[in-house]
Amino acid sequence: MKRIALLGSTGSIGTQALQVVDSFPELFRVHSLSAHRQAAKLARQARHFLPAVVAISDESCYNELKAELSGLGIKILAGPDSLRELAADQETDIVLNSLVGFAGLAATLAALSAGNTLALANKESLVAGGHLAMRQAAEAGVNILPVDSEHSAIFQCIQGQQLDAVEKIVLTASGGPFFGRNLAFLQTVTPQDALKHPNWVMGAKITIDSATMMNKGLEVIEARWLFGLPYEKIDVVVHRESIVHSLVVYRDGAVLAQLGTPDMRVPIQYALTYPERLLGHAPRVCWNTLSPLNFAPPDKSNFPCLPLAYLAGAIGGSMPCVLNAANEEAVRLFLGGKASFLDIPRIIERVMNKHKVVTEPDFDTLHDVDKEARLLSQEYAKMKG
Ligand code: MG
Repeated sequence: MKRIALLGSTGSIGTQALQVVDSFPELFRVHSLSAHRQAAKLARQARHFLPAVVAISDESCYNELKAELSGLGIKILAGPDSLRELAADQETDIVLNSLVGFAGLAATLAALSAGNTLALANKESLVAGGHLAMRQAAEAGVNILPVDSEHSAIFQCIQGQQLDAVEKIVLTASGGPFFGRNLAFLQTVTPQDALKHPNWVMGAKITIDSATMMNKGLEVIEARWLFGLPYEKIDVVVHRESIVHSLVVYRDGAVLAQLGTPDMRVPIQYALTYPERLLGHAPRVCWNTLSPLNFAPPDKSNFPCLPLAYLAGAIGGSMPCVLNAANEEAVRLFLGGKASFLDIPRIIERVMNKHKVVTEPDFDTLHDVDKEARLLSQEYAKMKG
């Protein structure tokens, strides 16, 4: 029995992870669940899976959750620190971190320092604090198993291979809803337009990141840490159909790719059952009716978030944390109608330009840098043009 802590259980990854867990009752036991604010949904999940502990990070929802779960003997925690407690719980074998944003870093580090295996869907943890997370994982001797579909694909394609024979990894990108569009069009884009992703159903933040291509930028930095490769060895290709989930090019010229229908249950299940492969319920690729698979270079001039991420990664230190914080804030402002779609990269670039890089930042430094970058983003959003 693997005892699972599921952080962010009411989100898109969290609910799909619970479907996976539910199909293997003899294999998994849900030890803890957490949500930010969706108390009723969390309570429903808790009544079904009967975890030992649940946590709600927004304290104002504590009473609602407590009332919903009365009499069940489930321990209830509240507040942002409770996530660290769940992540570091010694009664847990594997922590699935599907929190959104920088807020996930503390839980990532807590899980690793407690020696818990980490299934990671929160890419922002590695973007902001990859150096800390990788060091922590090495010290504790535990695995970080990727849940992000591209990174899971690469992870699957390097099993049993020599890592030093990897010439390049190629992350595929759907291109989002605006691939092929020009600046005149992008100027008019509304949050409703940007929230319509062609292939994947995901949370709001990552869907906007897909539309700006920042999602791929964050994934490039995530890949750098997970696979220990320099940025020159990480490429991006637009692949509209989202059937090829990523590729690894070896030095003999062989290319290994992982394919499948776009269904997050596959990478989630692989992370939870690794190294085993068990029966999965994702629809199969139908080769007889499959539409042609297309590949194209990313449009870096109309979608500058991707080159900004490469730049932040190359600068290193605290800069990727700044990129991430400015992006989180710019996306929030865009969704709230306080910034335009094209303001997102503009805000990020200005905040990056202003930042004085700290090399080897510790957690507290990252925390301050994150906060500062968010405030600066709000200021820049107010100054138009
Ligand atoms: Mg992805």
